[in-house]
Amino acid sequence: MGYPHPSHAGEHPVLSKHFGDAGARTFDGWVKRGGYEGLKKALGMTRDQVVEEVKASGLRGRGGAGFPTGMKWSFMPKEVVKPHYLVCNADESEPGTFKDREIIRWTPHQLIEGCAIGAHAIGAERIYIYIRGEFTHEHRILLAAVDEAYKGGALGANVFGSGRRIDVVVHRGAGAYICGEETAMMNSIEGKRGNPRIKPPFPAVAGLWACPTTINNVETLAAAGHILRQGGAWYKGLCRGNPKSTGTKLFSVCGHVQRPGNYEVVMGTSMKELIYDMCGGMRPGRTLKAVIPGGSSVPIMTPAEVEDCLLDYEGVVAKGSMLGSGGMIVMDDSTDLVYQVMRLARFYAHESCAQCTQCREGTAWTTRILEKILAGKGRREDLDLLLDLADNMTGKTICVLSDSCAAPVVSAIRKFPAEFDAYISREKQPVMVTA
Ligand code: SF4
Repeated sequence: MGYPHPSHAGEHPVLSKHFGDAGARTFDGWVKRGGYEGLKKALGMTRDQVVEEVKASGLRGRGGAGFPTGMKWSFMPKEVVKPHYLVCNADESEPGTFKDREIIRWTPHQLIEGCAIGAHAIGAERIYIYIRGEFTHEHRILLAAVDEAYKGGALGANVFGSGRRIDVVVHRGAGAYICGEETAMMNSIEGKRGNPRIKPPFPAVAGLWACPTTINNVETLAAAGHILRQGGAWYKGLCRGNPKSTGTKLFSVCGHVQRPGNYEVVMGTSMKELIYDMCGGMRPGRTLKAVIPGGSSVPIMTPAEVEDCLLDYEGVVAKGSMLGSGGMIVMDDSTDLVYQVMRLARFYAHESCAQCTQCREGTAWTTRILEKILAGKGRREDLDLLLDLADNMTGKTICVLSDSCAAPVVSAIRKFPAEFDAYISREKQPVMVTA
């Protein structure tokens, strides 16, 4: 399709095995590569059996929260009194994250198969795939694949002769980052403004149109076909020793590495192995300054924290950050961290839906204070003010956008104080900050 292929398979490629292989994009091509076997197997199983298989795999949500997928599916009511819905979150907008786009671009049937398995497991007849509006090319690929899946019998009134009805609606977003938040996404699908909802009620109780709903990320659902085909035990075995973080994970690595791109690694791989061995390390003559490991919404890590960090949910938390979406932003010693966190804060201020005062005012004031520091007009008290603001922005709002703005700012102030001191003491030349 004329796109470069920036993905690199690790030792056990599962999701990325067919990236770069245009033949895998079609229905026939996917079937030839073993595709839809997992769905056929799932259709011969009960809902509970599918859920148990996914629980056995240890699969956890790849969108950021890391919640166990099988358990999430088990929260859906056993009796289908009202319609059940599955929503696939393909609104990939987290800065530094570009893995779901790659799954859709190269293997749309991998996603459709996983969605259909998820729908079967939760008793849903309809799936909404909410795709980021800017993914024009991937939207076209997905629409063509859904059409093919209907023609091939993988979707429709009688999926693969099972008597089971499963339909897919592809819903295109309009460019708001906040619509990636699950309850905002449901509002958006319902045709309302994409504002997050207060929880409870949780989606499994009252989601889309107040009906039981499960929301899963693209990467999570894409793994379901492989788990059903090869077994939960096989998937669970793909890890480097931590039974709580199993399977493989796609990392989108960007920034100052020599070979940026998507890399699929087994959970528990060391962060240094990914940055230095797979991505080629820093540019010549440069050294590592900082890493944001999970998209932009998590605390920044220092080189010392990167040193022995393992890439799994617990390993990154042990180093004071989070695995998040797996969007890894690598920064070398040429990076101005005050400027970088200002740019992030400005992004969150722009994307805040403005329902919560702490978020609406907090993200805007955080941006303004950081701009003031960069302009050479900062005072030492401004750092305390930023920390105080961040404290009020954390854990007190309807969704975590506010926390997401605070996390990188607080970690930058605490772990890299010299960066701020250089501007406040006028040791560093002020920076012209343009809107
Ligand atoms: Fe909206 Fe921000 Fe509140 Fe989330 S935290 S609901 S984005 S105002």
